[in-house]
Amino acid sequence: MKEIHHWVDGKEYKGTSGRFADVFNPATGEVQAKVSLATKDELDAAVESAARAQIKWGATNPQRRARVMMEFVRLINRDMDKLAEALSSEHGKTFPDAKGDVQRGLEVIEFCIGAPHLLKGEYTDSAGTGIDMYSMRQPLGVVAGITPFNFPAMIPLWKIGPALASGNAMVLKPSERDPSVPLMLAQLLQEAGLPDGVLQVINGDKGSVDAILDSDVIQAVGFVGSTPIAQYIYERAAATGKRAQCFGGAKNHMIIMPDADLDQAADALVGAGYGAAGERCMAISVAVPVGEKTADALIEKLVPRIEKLKVGPYTAGNDVDYGPVVTKAAKENILRLVQTGIDQGAELVVDGRDFSLQGYEEGFFVGPHLFDRVTPDMDIYKTEIFGPVLSTVRAGSYEEAIKLAMDHEYGNGTAIYTRDGDAARDFANRINIGMVGVNVPIPVPLAYHTFGGWKKSGFGDLNQHGPDAFRFYTRTKTVTARWPSGIKEGGEFNFKAMD
Ligand code: NAD
Repeated sequence: MKEIHHWVDGKEYKGTSGRFADVFNPATGEVQAKVSLATKDELDAAVESAARAQIKWGATNPQRRARVMMEFVRLINRDMDKLAEALSSEHGKTFPDAKGDVQRGLEVIEFCIGAPHLLKGEYTDSAGTGIDMYSMRQPLGVVAGITPFNFPAMIPLWKIGPALASGNAMVLKPSERDPSVPLMLAQLLQEAGLPDGVLQVINGDKGSVDAILDSDVIQAVGFVGSTPIAQYIYERAAATGKRAQCFGGAKNHMIIMPDADLDQAADALVGAGYGAAGERCMAISVAVPVGEKTADALIEKLVPRIEKLKVGPYTAGNDVDYGPVVTKAAKENILRLVQTGIDQGAELVVDGRDFSLQGYEEGFFVGPHLFDRVTPDMDIYKTEIFGPVLSTVRAGSYEEAIKLAMDHEYGNGTAIYTRDGDAARDFANRINIGMVGVNVPIPVPLAYHTFGGWKKSGFGDLNQHGPDAFRFYTRTKTVTARWPSGIKEGGEFNFKAMD
């Protein structure tokens, strides 16, 4: 059985804990590898070593650090297919989708090449008589990244890029469910010229996370995952004086106005609801058609599109729309929630419960589901299902639709489909959700903007990537300087003979 270990001080480090987690091939249901789970002592040792490496890295000029990022971009492009293949085999998403996962992370590394510019401070000449004032952005020291299974390339890259380009060292604790890609990225960074110890990849579970939270050396934690863990990490990190940004779960609504292009909206809903088997924090999981006529017409357009979806292993190539979910437990949880929807009175219009794929009967495939007449009190509405299940909540008016999205505890992403600029503008202004699409179903901001949800989807006040990430990974120091007397007053200007 293949074993996956850690990356410490520029080389593979075999863990000593004797504890492992299973890494599945979600398409076949087989265990394909075992990943080491680090002990607290192993994590602490990696942190100590990172702290030593950070001193020199933090003092390296930003342009040189940016050059490492430049080379890293080249190497990721060189190995794109290899990375995507490893990603698909552990996660289950289709090959083109896996490339998208790598690509969206790569774009943040491209942005980080601008670190010298982003790290510039401010300067006021003559703030007082003979007084100048200036600020500088300094790295925090050692920081940690804790990342989820659903984007095993993109989210580690969102953490690694800004943290390292700012001059920090990072301990990355990726998801134990698909750990190979983060390790490959660490190797590529070494090839790109990153000094050993500046990026440590420690595989582990709750024990490693708690060791990160209790460390006196680690200064900041960037987390992405489910909401209960995000909140736990945010609170525990704050209790030990760490800076924390913790991004959680989602329940993203798409409002479909009566004037929307319904074919366009239906196509968008199918891609955004079922792509990556619904395992995206920006997936649309709730469709909110406004008016009964809109709802009836939308359902009519959705059903044939959903019934045509091709579900299969990534090895089947471009013919597949989405793959299996990540584990058997995830599949069981999705099917359990579907059952609550039926029991609580929602109308199951497309039923994927009996889906089975010949030759892959043990794989974690879940057929697509569409619910109609879902109400806000139902579990399928309140809970993040994280599977290929789209719920339709019929709204009587625009006001009812916007209120629905605003009252939900999550606030990651949302979208409105309409031809009415006034409605779209009002929606974008009033909605209490971090990322808004206008006729765009998955409004993931590009690398030079910032990514972050509101309400229970995000804890902390700075977003991921873009300029916020450089603020998160640096401290501002402001210097007020006066030079009351210098060489110009006390100097001797006449050429004197020696006494
Ligand atoms: P998860 O919360 O189970 O795991 C995330 C990380 O936390 C992993 O590294 C895991 O090892 C660790 N962890 C798990 N249980 C823990 C515990 N009890 N104590 C301490 N650490 C623990 O999330 P997941 O299932 O890997 O990812 C899916 C979730 O992530 C979904 O809720 C999804 O919406 C969310 N997500 C959010 C964003 C965002 O930007 N808001 C992006 C991607 C995914």
